[in-house]
Amino acid sequence: MPDIYAVFGNPVAHSKSPLIHAAFARQTGQDMTYSALLAPLDGFRESVAEFRKDGASGANVTVPFKEQAYALATRHTPRALAAGAANTLKFEVDGILGDNTDGAGLVRDLIVNLGVVIAGKRILLMGAGGAARGVIQPLLDQQPAQLFIVNRTPEKAIDLACAFAAGGVRGGGYAELSGEFDVVINATAASLANDLPPLPDSIFAPDALAYDMMYGRDTPFLAFARAHGARAADGLGMLVEQAAEAFNLWRGVRPDTATVIRSLREG
Ligand code: NDP
Repeated sequence: MPDIYAVFGNPVAHSKSPLIHAAFARQTGQDMTYSALLAPLDGFRESVAEFRKDGASGANVTVPFKEQAYALATRHTPRALAAGAANTLKFEVDGILGDNTDGAGLVRDLIVNLGVVIAGKRILLMGAGGAARGVIQPLLDQQPAQLFIVNRTPEKAIDLACAFAAGGVRGGGYAELSGEFDVVINATAASLANDLPPLPDSIFAPDALAYDMMYGRDTPFLAFARAHGARAADGLGMLVEQAAEAFNLWRGVRPDTATVIRSLREG
C-alpha cells in the first residue's frame, strides 16, 4: 500500500502541489499518493481527522486553514511556533507534528535558485498576513541588516514587528516608507486583485530583487519593479521549495527542485 498524503484548502482545485509531489515521488522512488482535498470552510478539523483515520501519513495545508492546522497539531517545529501557522502536518502514532515550510522555501529560492545574498541586506516585506508572518524568522536567521514590514493596515505591521522585536524588525504603513531596499518581497494578496500597493518610485536599491509570492502570471508589482530597474521573480520557486521541505520531513529524502521548477515553468 502506498503512503497517503494530500493538500487541504478551500479553494484547492488550482493547487500545483499534487503535480509537484508526484514529480518528487517519481524522482526519489517513494511509494506514495498525493491528492488535493477540498475541506468545508467550517469543517477542516473533521476532514483531517477522517483522512487520518483512513490511514494517511500527512498533509499540506493552504489558505485559509494554516492557523487551524497549527491549532490541530499536538507538537510544533520551532519554525511553526515562530509563524503561529502550519502548512505541513505529519501524522504520528501519538499525535500530529505541525511544521511551517513556507519561510524555508522562500529563503532557499532566494539564496539557492536566485543567487541573492540576504545577510547584511535591507529587506522590505510587504503584507502582514499569514504568508508574511511565516517568512519573518527564516529571513532573520540569514541576518539581514534591516527588515521592515509594511502593510495597508499599518497597525498589523507594527504588531507583527513587535512580535519579532528581538530581531530588530520594524513595521508601519506605506506612507512611512523611505530609503532604498535590496530585496522587496510582496507577501500581500494585492497581486491576486491585479493591484499594486503604493510603493515610492525610489524604493529599489541598485541591483535590487523584487519577489512576488504570487505565481502563474505577471503582476503589477513585478511590472513596476522592472520599470524601476529591479530584477523580478515570482513565487513559483518558493512553492516548489516549500513542498520539498515538506517532502523531506515526511520521507527523509530531499528531492531535486531545479528540474521540477523548470518543468512547471515550461508548463
Ligand atoms: P492574507 O489574506 O493572510 O494576507 C493578505 C495581506 O495582503 C494583508 O497584509 C493585506 O493587508 C494585504 N493586502 C491585500 N490586498 C491588498 C491590496 N490591494 N493592497 C495592499 N495590501 C493588500 O494572505 P496570505 O498572507 O496567506 O497570502 C498572501 C499572498 O502570498 C497570496 O497571494 C498567496 O497566494 C501568496 N503565497 C504564496 C506562497 C508560495 O509558495 N509562493 C505561499 C504562501 C502564500 P491588510 O492587513 O491591510 O488587509
